[in-house]
Amino acid sequence: MSDYAVKIIPKSPQMEIADAALDSAVRCLESKLAAGGIEAHSYDTPAFIDCGSNLEEIRCPLCGEELSFDWWGEAMDTAAGDGFASLEATLPCCGEKRSLNDLDYHFPCGFARWEIVVMNPAEEISPGCIVELETILDTPVRLIHAHI
Ligand SMILES: [Zn+2]
Repeated sequence: MSDYAVKIIPKSPQMEIADAALDSAVRCLESKLAAGGIEAHSYDTPAFIDCGSNLEEIRCPLCGEELSFDWWGEAMDTAAGDGFASLEATLPCCGEKRSLNDLDYHFPCGFARWEIVVMNPAEEISPGCIVELETILDTPVRLIHAHI
């Protein structure tokens, strides 16, 4: 049986956060949502927060061309060599530069220095709950829906 996780990350890949704010956000979720487990993680450099087997294709956000996983893997290796300090890559389709964070991932993925992982939630996280989380975390968030 596969697991489903909702990962909550900041829209900004470089944003850092205080542990206290992360703890409050986890407690807020625990009080509102039945789930298999809710955990927060933080990282020294931006990590790629993926959607697991839900990642089917990646497209250029500018011209819509499908990007090969080979090209993307190389771009990821280059950025990782630098600790993801820069996420900028030159797109092979239209030659423009864009952040790897802003590619059109289907399903959505992103880069972040922290995440809150909600394992097997019994229901969707409501829009009202997300607004409350954004207030506690003091940043707009992105939700990643992952099958693991
Ligand atoms: Zn393009």
